[in-house]
Amino acid sequence: MNKNKRLPNDCFALPRGITWTPVDQALNQLRMGLSNIKQSERVSVLHCVGRILANSVYAKVNNPPFTNSAVDGYGFCGPANDLGNRLKLLSGIAAAGNRFNAGVPKGSAVKILTGAVLPTGVDTVLLKEDVESNDQNSITFNGPLKVGANTRNSGEDVVRGEQLFNEGHKVRPQDLALLIATGIEDVEVYSLLRVGILSTGNELLDAGSEYSDLAQKGKVFDSNRPMLLSLLRRWGFEVFDFRIIRDDKRLLRESLDQASSEVDVIISSGGASAGDEDHVAKLIKYEGKLENWRIALKPGRPLALGLWNGTPIFGLPGNPVAAFVCSLIFVRPALGLLAGGGWFNPESYNVKSGFNKNKKAGRREYLRARIDEEGEVQIFPSEGSGRISSLSWSSGLLELFEHEEKVREGDLVKFIPYSSFDL
Ligand code: AMP
Ligand code: MG
Repeated sequence: MNKNKRLPNDCFALPRGITWTPVDQALNQLRMGLSNIKQSERVSVLHCVGRILANSVYAKVNNPPFTNSAVDGYGFCGPANDLGNRLKLLSGIAAAGNRFNAGVPKGSAVKILTGAVLPTGVDTVLLKEDVESNDQNSITFNGPLKVGANTRNSGEDVVRGEQLFNEGHKVRPQDLALLIATGIEDVEVYSLLRVGILSTGNELLDAGSEYSDLAQKGKVFDSNRPMLLSLLRRWGFEVFDFRIIRDDKRLLRESLDQASSEVDVIISSGGASAGDEDHVAKLIKYEGKLENWRIALKPGRPLALGLWNGTPIFGLPGNPVAAFVCSLIFVRPALGLLAGGGWFNPESYNVKSGFNKNKKAGRREYLRARIDEEGEVQIFPSEGSGRISSLSWSSGLLELFEHEEKVREGDLVKFIPYSSFDL
């Protein structure tokens, strides 16, 4: 069933001899190494929101399709320069969807409503409110009024044949309005990227399990898998749940085999560093193709990237905060490329810092942050990456760059709201 295009074996290979990879270099490697792996399919325009266009799309009809009135008023042949213009009023009305079929001779006017086709002879519309006086047979008004006033020309917004979107664009609800207005009936989109998600760790319990003896047994709830499933679903991928896998090489191998035959990408969390119980990294290293990325990043330094039976796998750190941050910073753009979208750059803003902080130079930090009532950015009081509550407290990430060592109140810092990630 996996008819998809394959990635090269070295797609995750970083240059040799580097111990800590800077974030930008890691991102650059993803950008260079990954490309769209999906085929395309045709879908009705009504079902294309959230999908990624596989072709450029061109308008089939003008918008507006015909010259029409922009207001409710009176249509006539312009211009009108003088005070006290007087026009003979024809009987009848031109309304949206109801053409006025007779011609309008010079010196006459006809009542016209917004969106109506301009009747023959009409090129200018007088706004209803600008009429000085009217009776059954005539209207008077003051000029000047330019030819074409209060009308909308056919094609003034979009001309037939004009490019609407590039290949790789992810269709939003507002794009649907434009596609439909310009006569598009269906579009070619990339088939949905299928993403399998699993958690690893002997300590993990499914959400909702009996929890009276967590401490005694040293158990924690599996937060990552439900979080990642909903995150990736939110980003428009098709998600598949491969459950919790114990720290056992055989079980993990079976699960990776199954996942790699069913999905396009695997995302695991936990066991991604180089420790004794880091089975994900070990297994991929010896039986698949592993690149262990040590990224100069806080939180979430270990990132195990590899291929299992040719299927890309992203091994995220187990820590929920680190797993979340790595998903936003690395997984989102990487999966976007695999799915056929372009590279993803989240929108960010420079805002004033409302805090003081010293930082280690040489690494990038993403702090959980939010904007306070003064419009300044504040960071969560603890930077511990086990502080899951910091994710809910925050409304975005504060990005501190490698060279930065000190942030003082009032300094401009880079804030990336979660809304930039559709969250
Ligand atoms: P690991 O990356 O496997 O060494 O795990 C690092 C920390 O994250 C440990 O404290 C784990 O218990 C915790 N952890 C790992 N996976 C999960 C998960 N799915 N949900 C919540 N916590 C986890
Ligand atoms: Mg573990």
